[in-house]
Amino acid sequence: MLKKFLDSSFTLPVISESSKKHSKNTRVEEYEELQEQNRLKEYVLEGAGLGYWDWYPQTKEHFVSKRWLDLLGLEPSDIINTEDDWLDRIHPDDKLYTMLIVEQAIAEKQHYQTEFRMRHKDGHYVWILGSGSPILYDDANVTRVSGTHQDITDKKELEKEFERHRNYMKTLYDLNPNIIMISDGKELNSANHAFFKLFDYVNIDEFKEQHHCVCKFFEYLEDDAYLHPSKGNWVEAASKEDSKQALIIKGEETYNFSVSSTKITFADSPLYIVTMTDTTQHYNLQQQLIELSIMDELTQVYNRRYFNEISVKLLSSTARSNGKLSFIMIDIDNFKKYNDNYGHDQGDLVLKDLAQLIAKMHIRHADMVCRLGGEEFAVLTHYTNQKALFKYAQEICDKIYVANMPHKYNMDFNRITISLGVSYCDFSLEKKSIEQLYKEADEALYLSKHNGRNQVTLYQNENDKG
Ligand code: GH3
Ligand code: MG
Ligand code: MG
Repeated sequence: MLKKFLDSSFTLPVISESSKKHSKNTRVEEYEELQEQNRLKEYVLEGAGLGYWDWYPQTKEHFVSKRWLDLLGLEPSDIINTEDDWLDRIHPDDKLYTMLIVEQAIAEKQHYQTEFRMRHKDGHYVWILGSGSPILYDDANVTRVSGTHQDITDKKELEKEFERHRNYMKTLYDLNPNIIMISDGKELNSANHAFFKLFDYVNIDEFKEQHHCVCKFFEYLEDDAYLHPSKGNWVEAASKEDSKQALIIKGEETYNFSVSSTKITFADSPLYIVTMTDTTQHYNLQQQLIELSIMDELTQVYNRRYFNEISVKLLSSTARSNGKLSFIMIDIDNFKKYNDNYGHDQGDLVLKDLAQLIAKMHIRHADMVCRLGGEEFAVLTHYTNQKALFKYAQEICDKIYVANMPHKYNMDFNRITISLGVSYCDFSLEKKSIEQLYKEADEALYLSKHNGRNQVTLYQNENDKG
């Protein structure tokens, strides 16, 4: 029968008399019909490049078509038609799982399909897609299994290449220290490792169970540079500008992120690739530098440079809202004598303590205390009436007096005292420049000194003086 099969102009096996004995319950007509079907199948299989095989588990015979031999570069003389000959050609690593699949299919009398490697005549392995079905069986035994083998090496190589590429991209994605998220603009589709590390989620599904969007973690700031969901689709917003900021507070930690979003079209739908770069260190450093550049190192109140900058802004915003702005100029009395007698270092300590005492008194947000230079300080404040303003300036004066810092060369008081000059502008009635307010406070301060020190003088213009 074997010879007949291989010599046949058909490449499919012919159902032989010997085969018939394995399926005693099958009628001869059914064999004939099956044979005819096989012939038809043969044309189809050859055309599709499929190798055909026929296996008789009871006798362990295994027959194959010419095309099957071609898949492995074999000649008819290279094989013996046994089950073992076929099994020996399977890659050792694939043999066990392949046999398990086949045995299960036989036990359940079901069709199976599986992929495994078979050794080519040259020694290399060919990936095979094997399909088979028990086609003759009775209640007890399966007597014939037939099926096809197809060379899928190219497909497997492509798959491997695709997998390699995918792993490479995934590694790049996950190793990226920036947070990378893919979103359709409505919800989060995927995110990289940096994302899960920050937000403490195992995977995207766990995140989605609890949150719709990452924007939930953004702190709200009244600042256009910062992203916030209340300002609309933040992913879209981030794609419209070079870079936006996001502030995230997690436990004790505050993080600053620079967010950028790139919109692409994928499968006819918009897709956003969002990158969040942690700029916390940079931001903190910047803040420290700003602090350093605006604070007076010795007294820890604002310095003159910042005063010059902010006083102009404060004045123009107050003028715009027709508000009131006052300027309190403070000067330590007889401080030269203090330095001369107690030493400059001791004088520095006085400057420090005095500045802090004044700074702690300014309770309203818009107030600012600054060291104008030397032993002179200024307070900018928004008192709404002159009486309250005068009272506040007097409280500053009293506070320093009560602090009772010894200065026996400040003859009349025997302690550190200050003189204050106060100017004031109600922008709903008149306009003044910062220079004018400064000059008026300075004139008032001169009067405080002239009138005996340790006192407050409110500047009055010529008309008021009358
Ligand atoms: P007056 O009551 O008229 O203001 O007298 P005064 O001695 O305070 O005024 P004057 O302008 O003559 O002297 C200011 C002194 O302030 C001179 C200097 O010794 C002292 N001073 C200025 N800057 C510093 C500083 O940074 N540290 C110390 N320790 N002293 C300073
Ligand atoms: Mg002075
Ligand atoms: Mg002085």
